Amino acid sequence: MSATSTKETKASKKTTTAKKSTSTAKKKVSATKDSSIEEKLDGLFNLQKIDSEIDRIRIIRGELPIEVEDLEDEIVGLETRTGKIQTEIDEIDQDISNRKIGSKESDAAILKYKERQNNVRNNREFESLSKEIEFQELEIKLNEKRTKEGKIKIDNKKEILAEATDRLNLKKADLTTKKAELDSIISATQKDENKLLKASKEAKKNIEERLVLAYNRLRDNSKNGLAVVELIYGNKRNTGHRDASCGGCFNKIPPQRELDIVTKKKIIICEHCGKILIPSQEELED
Ligand SMILES: [Zn+2]
Repeated sequence: MSATSTKETKASKKTTTAKKSTSTAKKKVSATKDSSIEEKLDGLFNLQKIDSEIDRIRIIRGELPIEVEDLEDEIVGLETRTGKIQTEIDEIDQDISNRKIGSKESDAAILKYKERQNNVRNNREFESLSKEIEFQELEIKLNEKRTKEGKIKIDNKKEILAEATDRLNLKKADLTTKKAELDSIISATQKDENKLLKASKEAKKNIEERLVLAYNRLRDNSKNGLAVVELIYGNKRNTGHRDASCGGCFNKIPPQRELDIVTKKKIIICEHCGKILIPSQEELED
């Protein structure tokens, strides 16, 4: 019982302290003459966060279609390949049927020559017909040999064709999935992007035009779209001091300027990259 009450007291004490610190912070803000500058900086930082999110969505969406495109290219390549193998098989098949016809013709010719051999007038004519027969027999043998070879070639090619067809079907199924995925991502990100674009427009309304123009110019001239950057801090030195740098170009910021940035009493622009500097949000949380 007593333990619970202690806990409760502690908890209520904590709440009071929290409340107190909030009210002190509020007092501080309202007491400072330059609170409008702080508001401007906060407004700019808020705008930057929204615009950076828009940039991020556009980058993600930009890369997805490339994956689908690669898949489509691979499918075209596989279709060309399977088509070529099929043509080769058809050509060998055609050659085999041509040889079948050729052998039949040779058989017929042999029969004819043999008949004529029965009615020859001399030995020379007989020999000449024998040579013709021999030639036709060789043709038949050659056809048999080529047919055998052709059938082996067809078997090999059919195996390769089956593998390529399997791969092609797999890639086609993959493409269907990826395309559906891409479509849903595009529509989803489009929704998010539209929301953010609206938020960005709203955020700009609360910032004076001169600053919005400067912000837009900075963003347009920046590869990563950053116009407002946080201070970043290096490791603690022996003296306990930590160097502050610009979060955009990483150049060191002199201590006096750092103070002006941290207190948000002036809008400070980096001397090196021209970006608007704000305090490190991580440091503020600590
Ligand atoms: Zn800089």
